[in-house]
Amino acid sequence: MRSYFQTLYDAWGQQHWWPAQSRFEVIVGAYLTQNTSWTNVERALDSLRKARLMSVAGIRRTPPRKLEQLIRSAGYFRQKARRLKTFVRFLDNRYAGSLARMFAQPISQLREELLALNGVGPETADSILLYAGNHPVFVVDAYTRRILERHELVAPHSSYELIRQLFEQALAPLAGEPLERGLTPGPATTVTGPRGSSHPPSPMSTAKRTPVVQVFNEMHGLIVGVGKNYCKKSQTNCEQCPLQKFLPGAQ
Ligand code: SF4
Repeated sequence: MRSYFQTLYDAWGQQHWWPAQSRFEVIVGAYLTQNTSWTNVERALDSLRKARLMSVAGIRRTPPRKLEQLIRSAGYFRQKARRLKTFVRFLDNRYAGSLARMFAQPISQLREELLALNGVGPETADSILLYAGNHPVFVVDAYTRRILERHELVAPHSSYELIRQLFEQALAPLAGEPLERGLTPGPATTVTGPRGSSHPPSPMSTAKRTPVVQVFNEMHGLIVGVGKNYCKKSQTNCEQCPLQKFLPGAQ
């Protein structure tokens, strides 16, 4: 895992994932990105921003029908509007509407609380914890699982928790001295073709965070880049992929 990280980082550099202006925008994006592409999510986020409703107070006061229309481009808009309302109700009831209070809770407790909310599975909960809360939790998505399975690093249908722990244990040591090397932008000259899934820097992608959180943050972004550009569901482009040297039997 550490070699995968170093290889991808050297090839593509910092990915600036998650692109967002605020912690709340990360949370909204984490809900909206379920079962749709990020391009569709961006349109919905843009509508909320233009309507000046991208805030806890904004979602709280927006009537359900109006919220549905604003996020329509993200698909499953009725369900997602309900879920956003549920999150804000949870935040109001449990933490007096304060994200700061919510993220001050112990990670395991908050993770359980998020998982208990309608529409929040492990990937959404961990995206919120890592990218909005800057907590050291690794996010496992379909790309991660696909790459690990194709490289025979985990058995098919391995549990989310097993994969999460695998990454967290393997990558945490990078938060020591080698991290300094890891997070210095690499030469980005070794690979041709798409350079991951990088975004322009944003207030959230450049927020202050601990080294271990930064490594988890970058690794997930780099994996998204592999999955989107090379390791697709129906076809692979191993010839161009930076991870080709790690394929079983490659050497
Ligand atoms: S596309 Fe990349 S990650 Fe996917 S199987 Fe091929 S070398 Fe591995």
